Amino acid sequence: MITLDYAAERERMVKDQLESKGIRNRRVLDAFRSVPRHLFVNPADEAAAYQDRPLALSGGQTISQPYMVALMTESLDVAPGHRALEVGTGSGYQAAILAELGAVVHTVERLPALSDEARRRLERAGYRDIRHRVGDGTLGWPEEPAFDRIVVTAGAPDVPIGLLTRLEEGGVLVVPIGDDRVQELVKFRRGDGRGSRERLCRCSFVKLIGAEGWPEN
Ligand code: SAH
Repeated sequence: MITLDYAAERERMVKDQLESKGIRNRRVLDAFRSVPRHLFVNPADEAAAYQDRPLALSGGQTISQPYMVALMTESLDVAPGHRALEVGTGSGYQAAILAELGAVVHTVERLPALSDEARRRLERAGYRDIRHRVGDGTLGWPEEPAFDRIVVTAGAPDVPIGLLTRLEEGGVLVVPIGDDRVQELVKFRRGDGRGSRERLCRCSFVKLIGAEGWPEN
């Protein structure tokens, strides 16, 4: 049996994939040193968990490449106590990173089987305070008050206006917007009047499917 030194692999991932590509925020880098990514991939892919690439999850979905998760997280600028909403739980990895940063994490996944699996993975990795919901996250989390931070981890055809309205004043929304193959990662800040919009980079996510996303099929 091969035993892998995952802490050493994480350290290498942080150095070679994150720091070298410009991720600078100490707290973000520390979160990536702490979260056991190998517990969030399919067992057959465990040895590849810290490689510079996305990996397949069940239901045709993917856990994003570490750098993309780091870039989204750094742009979100999370402070302890922030109320954060993630749309697209997937493996649960991004939710764990947000929890490491001290956010009060709410995560929505449309596929029940993936949501269940993510709950189990997060429990096993010791993240027990994350709130889960199954449903269309483009509609936000209607019973909850507005959020300080919202991250959409699937590609939207256009700005999900409904989510912008679920942001607190000064709040930040990070979302990939584009066609079904290539998107641009965009950061919105809700501010007095119009707020701001910043383009971060090109990216490629699975489709955001829902009322303010792509139609199913
Ligand atoms: N953040 C994840 C990666 C997510 S992949 C991680 O860290 O592993 C994108 C996920 O978004 C998929 O699981 C997909 O099922 C989900 N998704 C797509 N449209 C959605 C919607 N409208 N609401 C909630 N989840 C959605």
